[in-house]
Amino acid sequence: MKRAKIIATLGPASNDKKSIAKLAKAGVDVFRLNFSFGTYAEHQKVINTIRAVGKELKKSIAILQDLQGPKIRVGVLNEPVVVRKGGELILSGNSIHKTKEISNKKIISVLPTTYKQIASDAKAGKRILLADGKIILTVLKTDKSRKEVLCKVVNGGTILTGKGINLPYTDISLPALTAKDREDAEFGLKAGVDYMGLSFVRRAEDVVKLKRLMSKMKKSVPIISKIEKPEGVDHLDEILEVSDGIMVARGDLAVEISFAKVPMVQKEILRQANLRGKLTVVATEMLSSMVDNPRPTRAEASDVANAILDGTDAVMLSNETAVGEFPLKAVAAMRDIIVETESSLLNEHYHLSLDLPEIHDLTQGLCAAASHLSYFLNEKALAVMTHSGSSVRVISKYRPQSPVYAATFNRDVYQQMAFYHNVHPVLLDDKGRFEDGDDSMCSLGLYELTLKRQKMVRAGELLIFLTGDITPKGWRVNTVKVKKVS
Ligand code: PEP
Repeated sequence: MKRAKIIATLGPASNDKKSIAKLAKAGVDVFRLNFSFGTYAEHQKVINTIRAVGKELKKSIAILQDLQGPKIRVGVLNEPVVVRKGGELILSGNSIHKTKEISNKKIISVLPTTYKQIASDAKAGKRILLADGKIILTVLKTDKSRKEVLCKVVNGGTILTGKGINLPYTDISLPALTAKDREDAEFGLKAGVDYMGLSFVRRAEDVVKLKRLMSKMKKSVPIISKIEKPEGVDHLDEILEVSDGIMVARGDLAVEISFAKVPMVQKEILRQANLRGKLTVVATEMLSSMVDNPRPTRAEASDVANAILDGTDAVMLSNETAVGEFPLKAVAAMRDIIVETESSLLNEHYHLSLDLPEIHDLTQGLCAAASHLSYFLNEKALAVMTHSGSSVRVISKYRPQSPVYAATFNRDVYQQMAFYHNVHPVLLDDKGRFEDGDDSMCSLGLYELTLKRQKMVRAGELLIFLTGDITPKGWRVNTVKVKKVS
């Protein structure tokens, strides 16, 4: 069984029922819906399909809605534009593609962008990057009244409609949560997504804006902040404070800070997030060559393994599963690399080398103790009963040696826990509920029986239970109990 979780992005190559079921069986735990593309009708259909597949396979599957954020793009071009090193072009805040004669009788292209304030925000001497950083421009001057930015081409190439534009270290006046993001988030909350990814997070305030929207909607889901701008790296601490998790979004991050810096920045982001017990994802180009090849490169296998060694909770596939030719093979390859890597890490020495969260409260203390015990007892699993899933997330971050069987009556919590490292969610039968007030828990006996019925444990095997009491304030974890299955 693998411990780290796999997130797969759905797209035209994979969003039908048959493919989703195959991907889930092959090892996908979380499906990511990219809200840069698609209509609400299409997303709703995919969400319904994932839920149906989860029920049919009796598998906990989470849905991550990825909001587009303030992504800047080239507008509609009349035709592709080829630019060469040393040449000049104008990026404009208007929507018309045209040419223009400048002072020395040179004719240059004026390219529309989706960024109306580009001339107010761009600064002479700063870089602007196009098409995933393949094309590099330097700003020569700005003309606010015409909404135009005159640029020199440092690295040439062909510019197509819709290509991404990055302005690293430029104070962009676009809102962190655009009008489209707000509408999309409202749709997602109503449709019942389990997680929300927020793109281009620069400050804690960006995350707080999404939280405010959620509280207005009276429904909230955990927020995964995507770190893909240098400002996001610089303000990691405050962003982590208000986020439930982070994603090392290496696509835009590499464009903005340079690819050479990504490996060490990845390690530092994961270290900080793990120390704080936050969820972590490493994303983009993990098995990129598998978009059109049935096997990964050696370097890609090492990249996935390295993310596991860095201690991530989850690794993500993007184009590989959304538009690639081999979505299923990509998931199988990722699963195999994870399992192989993890199989050599199951020892106390490795556990001691991990960046585990500090202990500040009783739940963390008990979870850390149970996890520590798991390296000395020969138990089958840690068995945790949960109301909200929070103690399960805590114990997962202490990286116990054996799997965590996490039981709940709540289907939303059951789905959400699919994201948690080394956690196997168990949906308990409603009939076992206590009748005496708190309806969130059941007896250890019922839990044991459920695990036996689901063939997750056998009589005689040892379990480490993390359990508690019903208090006036609700369920409180207070006991680690080691027990043989009867
Ligand atoms: C990324 O940039 O790496 C990323 C995950 O974001 P997106 O795919 O939305 O560009």
